This record gives sequence, structure tokens and C-alpha cells, in this order.
Amino acid sequence: MRMTQALIRTMKETPSDADIPSLIFGLRSSIINKLGSGLYTLLPLGLKVVRKIETIIREEMDKSGAQELLLPILSPAELWQESGRWDIYGKELMRIQDRHDRDFALGPTHEEIITHLVRSLVKSYKELPLNLYQIQTKFRDEIRPRFGVMRAREFVMKDAYSFHRNEESLRETYQVMFDTYTRIFKRCGLKFKPVLADSGAIGGDVTHEFTVLAQTGESVILYCEDNSCGYAASSEYATGNIAPFTENTLKSADSMEKIHTPNLKTVDEVSAFFKVQPQTLIKTLLYKINDTVTAVLVRGEREVNEAKLQKAFTTPFVELADEKTVNSVTNAAVGFAGPVGLSIPVYADFSLKTLDAGITGANETNYHYKNVVLNRDFSINSFIDVSTALAGDSCIKCGKSLAVCRGIEVGQVFQLGTKYSKAMNATFHDENGEEKPFIMGCYGIGVTRTAGAAIEQSHDKDGIIWPYSIAPYHIIILPLNMNESGIVECAEQLYSQLTQDGYEVLLDDRDLRPGVKFKDADLIGIPIKIVIGKSFLNDKTVEVKKRIDGTTVQATIDHLPVTIRQIVNELKADVYE
Ligand code: ATP
Ligand code: MG
Repeated sequence: MRMTQALIRTMKETPSDADIPSLIFGLRSSIINKLGSGLYTLLPLGLKVVRKIETIIREEMDKSGAQELLLPILSPAELWQESGRWDIYGKELMRIQDRHDRDFALGPTHEEIITHLVRSLVKSYKELPLNLYQIQTKFRDEIRPRFGVMRAREFVMKDAYSFHRNEESLRETYQVMFDTYTRIFKRCGLKFKPVLADSGAIGGDVTHEFTVLAQTGESVILYCEDNSCGYAASSEYATGNIAPFTENTLKSADSMEKIHTPNLKTVDEVSAFFKVQPQTLIKTLLYKINDTVTAVLVRGEREVNEAKLQKAFTTPFVELADEKTVNSVTNAAVGFAGPVGLSIPVYADFSLKTLDAGITGANETNYHYKNVVLNRDFSINSFIDVSTALAGDSCIKCGKSLAVCRGIEVGQVFQLGTKYSKAMNATFHDENGEEKPFIMGCYGIGVTRTAGAAIEQSHDKDGIIWPYSIAPYHIIILPLNMNESGIVECAEQLYSQLTQDGYEVLLDDRDLRPGVKFKDADLIGIPIKIVIGKSFLNDKTVEVKKRIDGTTVQATIDHLPVTIRQIVNELKADVYE
């Protein structure tokens, strides 16, 4: 493609509402264009990237035995009513009516539609397992669309759904999908981690999120520093063994004491006042759980992990008690709650088992208790696993230390079980002729989000650094003087030769200053630059420069194909292990 003909309109300035690299560089490099909140046009460069990701996904999904189909985006409300999600999904589900006032949803995901299809076509265990996928536009009226294509209202997703006769078959396909995802993201040239994730409300099901490692990611991941162990989990799900707190200056031999602590509410304020580590504090939070106000205790440096709390109480919903409730249960202002003398159920995180004596709110405004001892000054209903894991906790698998990093969720694999098949009465006949609900799995990849995540992971101050496999073009040729016929001829010759050799080549044939061409090439992030300038006029060599590290080599025109091949092989071999 010639730059003079391409719809590439780069921008020097950062657009005012762009806040993260993928959006800033996506807009500036003419990869995407904004139409409205959460709505983006994929410009020719952006579409090329997305098509490459789709091709990798298709090849790997087909190899895994999955079959591609295409379900309608527009789906009748009746199916969503059958599953119950017409009501549950809330405002994120885009709803429209046809000319007969019939209700429809614009698919945010397709469990209902595929379950309906399979219940009408598949009758026997002999037809199972079955794994079906599509690559398609999805609609979600996100409460806060942001980060460009990464949290958009219209985006491209690969979604797959598998159907099984038993759990064992589901587990097999889940593993196949896990391995397939690993190959897909490797081939996309990304650094990523599959992390154990929370499966939502009532646990039991298994799920992994595939996260691309990037500072700007919304997911926080705890992972074992020992690579061979491989434990990694999202912060909502992670559990680490919390070391006993050994620097406690309080002693259980001392009796409990009430101390005036005017206006000291936060852990930092209270621990500074008492000159103790935050671990000495027994943080007391009141939650409404199944309509009962319940106290939850965690060590001062930790937070309550609400996903764990839900799991501990097998409930899809827990809610922090409001100020009025806290006032009436504790007889104190918010910030002074403690377990001593409370007449509601009290649950404590396991890490408090080893706290000899601590500090808690005194259930009296502006007072705390010092030297509080469990089973002497207060009692609990039981210990539960309810606090957040932190870097430095030890791995539950191998005992080594956990570290923390951030990531962007680009895909998820999920063992769904019979959630949809039961609700929608989707059954097959097993080998005994008995009617059974299908056991299902589902597997999503955010295709456009993956493109954004690639930029988040790989950029510098000048622009994008595309992994070779998903770059919109492999090579950009920069003739530095369009008025020098030798240079222009050489550029044309290389353009056609390299294109013939199978590379995708962009020729910057604009009559612009070298500085502008260099800046644009870096901004767009093409992996290899071929610069035709002074050295060509002097000794018939061109400069070949790698975007990723700026290294350059001079090559004669004759030797250029070999040089390019070497560089391409190096770039392709740069795969995350
Ligand atoms: P998130 O927690 O980020 O909202 P999700 O759990 O709702 O994601 P899924 O329902 O599992 O996402 O969808 C499958 C994939 O689709 C996600 O892994 C993500 O890559 C992508 N995705 C989800 N929502 C969006 C969105 N609003 N814009 C772009 N991609 C999205
Ligand atoms: Mg979501």
C-alpha cells in the first residue's frame, strides 16, 4: 500500500479525552476513529490487525475441533426470558422493538441462542461432544465505556460453546480450549497469564481468565514467583497463606484497655497513634448478608474480599451496612466498630487466629480498645477465608512467595455446567435412553480488546510496537527524498520485490520531510523500517531498522532479502514462554 493512497491520517497531538496508550496511539496512528461513547470505527490499519487476530483464532479453533457458525445478533426476548436473563441482565443488555412491538436483544453474548439451536438439532449422546464458535460483533451498554476498543459498547468477540454428556467430557474440552487459548495468545506475540478467576455468585464452577500483562490493566493478579509452580489468580479469587504477625508489641497477658482516640478512624491513623503496625488492628466491617447484619473481621493491612465472603455464605450478594445500621448496631459513629460486646454474628479471617492481642474499635465514638484477645474479650462464630491476598503471602501450591502484577482480561474459559440447559430445557438422550440436560462450557475472546491490549503491552513514547504476527504491515519503506530519482526507483523496486516475496509492505511515497516520515512510521509501529537515503546515493546501501529495539543494519540491495528474512525470523521467534 502506498501512503499517498492509504486512509492513514496521523495526528501529532494527543486527543483530549484519550487517557491510556492504546487509545492515544490508536487515535493518533489512525488505527481507530471515534464515533461516539464506546463506539469506534476500525480504520483500514485497525481492521488489518483485527483480521490477523481473527485468522489466528480461526486457525487454532478449527485445529482444536471446534466448528464455526454465525448466529444472528438480533435475538428474540423469549429466549432471554426463558433463561431469566431478560430481567437479570439489566441495562447492559441493549433492547429494541420491531415494527410489531416485539422485544429483541442485541446479543452481548450468545448462551441462550446457541442453547436454543442445539436443543433443536441435537438429540443423542452420540452427537456429543460438540464445540461451536463464532466471531461476531457484540453489544453491551457498558455503564462506563472507556479505554477505547477495550471497553466499548460495540466490539468483536470470539465466543464458543461446548456441549457434553458428562462432566469428564466437559473437563477434557476445557483443557483443549485452555491449550488453544495459550497457543492463540502466544501466536499473537503477547505476554499473558491464565489466571484462576472467580466464577461469580455460587461457586463450584471452574474458570480461568487469560490476561495480557500490562501496567494499565484493570485486573490485579497474584502469581507465584516460582515459574514452574504456575499458580496465578485474580485478586478477587487469590488465596495465599498469610504469615503470622511476629512484630506484635501488644501482649495477651495485659488486660484490655479503653483508650480515647478522638477522630481517629482509619487504620493508618489508629496504628500511627498507637505506634503499632497496621497488622495489630482487628478491622471490623459490618455487612448485610442474607438480611442479617454480620461483623467480618480482617487484619488491619487487609481488605475484605467480597467474592470470598459471598462464597463463604453461599449467597450471590453481600452489602456493606449503611451508616444508620452501623450507628444502631454499634452505638457509635462509623470507624469505631469492634467485636467486643457485639450482639450480632461475628466471623474472622483465618489470619486473625495467630494474632495474640490486638486493637479494635470500642463501639463508642472516639474510643478504641487495646490488648483485645480473642476468646477472652470477644468470641466469634467461626474463622473463614475472607481477606484479600497480598504480595508476599506464600503460595498455597508450593509455599514460595506470591508477587503481584496487573493485566487486561482478553479471554475467559468457563465450565458452565447445566445453568442454561436446565433453565431452557435443553436435553439429550443418554446411552440408557434417559433424558438429561446438556453439560456446557463457554469460551470467549475479546478480539478488539486483544488488539488494544497488544498496544498497552508494547509501545514506547513514540508510538506502537506491534508484534510481528498482528502488525498491520510487516515493513515500511521510507524513501527520504522523493525528488531524487535514484531513491524513488529503488523504493519502487523494493516495494514490488518485497511484496512479491509475501511481505505486507507500506511505501511512504509522500513528498514530506524525513523527520515526518520517521515519526509516522514509529507511531504506526510497523516492525521493520527500510530507509533509503544518503547511504543509497553514496554506496548503494539501505538501512534496515527494527522498531522494537531501534537496532539497525546496513544492507546492499542484493543482500536485503537475506537480511529481512533473518530479522523476520528473529521477530517471529520472540514468543513468550
Ligand atoms: P469484563 O469483566 O472486562 O467486563 P466480562 O467478564 O464481562 O469482561 P465476558 O463476558 O467473559 O467478559 O466476555 C468475553 C470477552 O469479551 C472478555 O474476556 C473481553 O476480552 C471481551 N469484552 C467484554 N466486554 C467488552 C467490552 N465492553 N469491550 C470490548 N471487549 C469486551
Ligand atoms: Mg463485562
